Amino acid sequence: MLNRKFVLMLIMTVVLGATGCGWIGGFGTAGETGASTTTAITWSDATTCTVSFYAMDTYMSMTAYEVASSEALEGVAAMIMDLEAELSATNESSAVARLNAGEVVQLEADSATVALLNRAREVYTLTEGSLDISIYPVVKLWGFTTGEYQVPAEAELIALLETVGFDKIDLGASASSLQLPSDMQLDFGALAKGYAGDVARESLAEAGIDSAILSLGGNIVTIGSKVDGSSWRVAITDPASTDDYAAVVEVADVSVVTSGVYERNFTDEATGVTYCHIIDPSTGYPVDNGLLSVTVICADGTLADGLSTALMVMGQEAALDFWRTHQDLDFQLMLINDSGQVLITQGLEGSMTLMSQDYELVVIE
Ligand code: ADP
Ligand code: MG
Repeated sequence: MLNRKFVLMLIMTVVLGATGCGWIGGFGTAGETGASTTTAITWSDATTCTVSFYAMDTYMSMTAYEVASSEALEGVAAMIMDLEAELSATNESSAVARLNAGEVVQLEADSATVALLNRAREVYTLTEGSLDISIYPVVKLWGFTTGEYQVPAEAELIALLETVGFDKIDLGASASSLQLPSDMQLDFGALAKGYAGDVARESLAEAGIDSAILSLGGNIVTIGSKVDGSSWRVAITDPASTDDYAAVVEVADVSVVTSGVYERNFTDEATGVTYCHIIDPSTGYPVDNGLLSVTVICADGTLADGLSTALMVMGQEAALDFWRTHQDLDFQLMLINDSGQVLITQGLEGSMTLMSQDYELVVIE
């Protein structure tokens, strides 16, 4: 019974859009429940299984269709929990925590840590530093890691920015042994859920599952299409009213990742200014450029996650230019700004429906 409650709570979280995006339809009535206290298993009919759990600081829920057992989904849940332990800067024994403590760390070439260091470097380079996972000390100073928020003194921020800059790391060709420059600290928070989604996709494909949808704390991963061959309908949160949706996009076989100013933020009582958890690495200040959310739709979920954060930093015009000049990366964008516009790149035309009359739709070429 407890498990069933837990599952229903998870479903509400996803469908009500407490996260960046949700998906619409298909859970049905919760049926048999089982498994441990941390992973809830629900069968909504004989062949539709949902596994829900808490990892990477968020609720995650995965539904697979036309399956005979929950084994593959449970395996993925366990794998994501392992990934969390391996990639978390707050787990003292993780490679990243030891790097942050200044240690020389031996890294295994095929580890998730090395994979993410390389992806972080790739997106850092692509976005000219807008995604910089060495921004972590600044994120901590603002209080976003603990919830003890504060507006730092400008001098303190400027001094701390001296430690920031992913280009100061020498990853080398094999990166077998690494030590960070003095006082530098890393956090994979902007990429880890995207990476988890990619690993999950691979694992479910290997298990022969070809119709599934995963909600990994607002990152939606779609595997194949729905059983009837139609597209998945993924809802994008309305940043101005986060219990509602601004739009629905129909997709198959891609990740849909949203970063927004509404997700984790605080208001400074003295000034009334609201600060969000995405930091511009060039200034050390939270972004405030008129963009309320960026949704990236791409088969590569790690890239989608990195870009959603980076394009929030870049702002609307630079983000759209980035899309125009990086067509080779094969992604689409939905931007929502504070002028009441939902901007979509051309590839989304026809697969996207506005859900709120408060917005004007603009198609970008
Ligand atoms: P969420 O984790 O809420 O889904 P994001 O993927 O946008 O959102 O990641 C934001 C997190 O990444 C922040 O909470 C912070 O820890 C970290 N971060 C903030 N700004 C940057 C940045 N410019 N580059 C890299 N990481 C960042
Ligand atoms: Mg991100």
